[in-house]
Amino acid sequence: MTKRPKSSSAATVTFWGAARTVTGSMHQVEACGQSLLLDCGLYQGRRAEDHTRNHQFPFRPRDLDAVLLSHAHIDHCGNLPNLVKQGFAGPIYCTPATRALTAVLLGDAAKIYEEDANHLHSRRRRDEPALEPLYDGRDVYRTLLRLQAVPYDTPFPIGPDLEAEFVDAGHLLGSAMIRLRGAGRSGTWSLTYTGDLGRAGLPVLRAPAPVPPAPLLICESTYGGRQHGAIEETAAQLGDVVLRTAERGGKLIIPAFSVGRTQTILYFLHQLRSAGRLPDLPVFVDSPLALRATEVFRAHPECFNEATLHLVRGPSGLFGEQHIYYLDKVHESIALNERREPCIIISAGGMCEAGRVLHHLKHHIEDCRCTILLTGWQAADTLGRRLLERCPEVRILGRSLALKAEVAVLNGLSSHPDHDGLVERLRPLVGTARQVRLVHGEPERAAALADGLRAAGFADVAIPDRSESITIASTNC
Ligand SMILES: [Zn+2]
Repeated sequence: MTKRPKSSSAATVTFWGAARTVTGSMHQVEACGQSLLLDCGLYQGRRAEDHTRNHQFPFRPRDLDAVLLSHAHIDHCGNLPNLVKQGFAGPIYCTPATRALTAVLLGDAAKIYEEDANHLHSRRRRDEPALEPLYDGRDVYRTLLRLQAVPYDTPFPIGPDLEAEFVDAGHLLGSAMIRLRGAGRSGTWSLTYTGDLGRAGLPVLRAPAPVPPAPLLICESTYGGRQHGAIEETAAQLGDVVLRTAERGGKLIIPAFSVGRTQTILYFLHQLRSAGRLPDLPVFVDSPLALRATEVFRAHPECFNEATLHLVRGPSGLFGEQHIYYLDKVHESIALNERREPCIIISAGGMCEAGRVLHHLKHHIEDCRCTILLTGWQAADTLGRRLLERCPEVRILGRSLALKAEVAVLNGLSSHPDHDGLVERLRPLVGTARQVRLVHGEPERAAALADGLRAAGFADVAIPDRSESITIASTNC
């Protein structure tokens, strides 16, 4: 890194998103004459609030020099096309796998926005203004042209005095922690932004790398105060659900997020089947997004752990086994409802709010032989939450239906660390991280993690409000 004299050597970070909440990750770093964004995620709250928060940036996008993207989850990358639409013209740095996965996810998001806008447009009164989607396919295309891939552990310059590096976070294919270093007249400074951290022991991905030490640590806090069950138990629970559903002659319907969660479930099913603990059941992955995301997974084995590499290269080929059917076309999805034999259907989306899974639920929810397996957190007021609470009657696609199918829950699949996992991952940084700022967590979760980190020896731990700034002091070099 070239060290040129500068009038100011310190950096300022302003927290514009995922501050006391879990969505809309967006943090601005101003240093060395540059203005950067760490992530540009979609905020997902109440609809009216979503609209304002996502449409209006608290800065001029054209004034930004670059964006550093931690990973492809939509709450981290989902507002990038809007940033480009509003004038951002700099590079967006990310890892190669994140670039590929971001293309898939943003393309899907644009499609949903356009369909939503068309739907609302058709219902509007004549005197109401036309509704514009947040962004469309063209904005996504222009965004993808700005993505610049940089491999893990390869420092790269952003400006004359600024250097960044991606370090494997082990949270999602391509996910990275971001290390940022600057130099100036009075010394150097550095920060580490964890993005979303991965969980040790999860299948498929490589184990997360150690968190790079830095005087300022910006860390996620999603599961502060919470503990996950053991991953091995989760696989066993999945096996039990499959078996008892098949014995009843029913279908197992798994609403799951298409990227990450679906591939983890496929891995577990592969393991159970290889161990002779599953009957010979076909698995239908009914989501075009999951199909495309799985293709990206297969194209990026550099992110896999040894066991997964072995499986992918083996004769059966993880994700591509003969009994797994990826359904792209709608008529293939509909045909599945006519099927009488037991099978496993993995379908988007995870909270049962939209997507093809609604049709599978509608056709099978009144069949007591079938099981609906919920695999993630279910937000309030979603169909997933009503299923979780076993409401005797639920509305699906305009019809009231009796809930007769079994509802099972698999809680141990989170790709974030739990409380103890977070504290242990950060503990080696006690001597170096002078300031810790917790983001990406509901206030209660972040507060629990802050207590845990203070008990571990971190002196300055805080949970910033939205628009709050922090200055990083430089150290003499
Ligand atoms: Zn994530």
